[in-house]
Amino acid sequence: MDSGLAAYETALRAHFTAGKERAAAARGARAPARLRAGMGGVSRVPAISLDLDHWWPAASPFEVIVGAILVQNTAWSNVAQAIATLRGAKRLSLAGIRELSEAELGELIRSSGFWRQKARRLRGFVTWLDAAHGGRLDRLFAQPTAAAREQLLALEGIGEETADTILLFAGDHARFVMDTYTRRVLARHQLPAERAWVEAAVPRSDGMNAARRYRHLHALLVETGKRYCRQRAPDCGACPLAPLLPAGAYPPQAKPHAQPRLGAKGPPSRGEQKRDARPRRAGARAHPPAHP
Ligand code: SF4
Repeated sequence: MDSGLAAYETALRAHFTAGKERAAAARGARAPARLRAGMGGVSRVPAISLDLDHWWPAASPFEVIVGAILVQNTAWSNVAQAIATLRGAKRLSLAGIRELSEAELGELIRSSGFWRQKARRLRGFVTWLDAAHGGRLDRLFAQPTAAAREQLLALEGIGEETADTILLFAGDHARFVMDTYTRRVLARHQLPAERAWVEAAVPRSDGMNAARRYRHLHALLVETGKRYCRQRAPDCGACPLAPLLPAGAYPPQAKPHAQPRLGAKGPPSRGEQKRDARPRRAGARAHPPAHP
């Protein structure tokens, strides 16, 4: 079981972190042979370089929580604007938000949409943390994963994906985040689209911290889903996972030189995931189509 995801992780890491290596090769620095071989002609390795340890754009665990709550039903660019406004007002902290009324907080996060509801949820989280853990995130996250998760799920506006995102990216808990993109990639490759399976199938032989590995794998799968494995027009021809498609699972599309959409860093919004997962119009061919 372990080998299944090991191959996926290797392919995705090579693809999404190759940009730095190629840039080094272009400057004449030492680069891996597989990349140097591609420098003289048309290489299929795009200059993508994700920083997997900073894929979720946050400077503190609390900022991760703010982003995870605000990103619901909006694009990340709107969340980034709201976070920048909070930071500019020196309110991007537990103490900063604690001192604001819901109306004042709502004004600062207005760009994230549904701002009244999100202000209530954000204030609700801070009020609950004060009452339950003395306003200390470290006390929340010092609990066993199951206990912290149960408490988060009891809060307004925190569902399973948001709770797991907070545990993994803010609390450093080894809890893999299952999202629409991940489920789609796994399902199209005829793998079980279940968190427990992923956690069991993740390679462990190299000693890498489990939470860090889950963060990396989540980022890699989300980027694959955003750039290639779209609901309506998957670009298997450009996707690094194409060689791993089981025989007959899906025929790569006739777009071998299609370029990925660059500049789409950061976590996808729930809205982005929903838009991408819209049902096809009536009469359109279902995905995946049968192998010819
Ligand atoms: S785009 Fe194609 S090759 Fe890539 S993950 Fe999706 S189904 Fe697999």
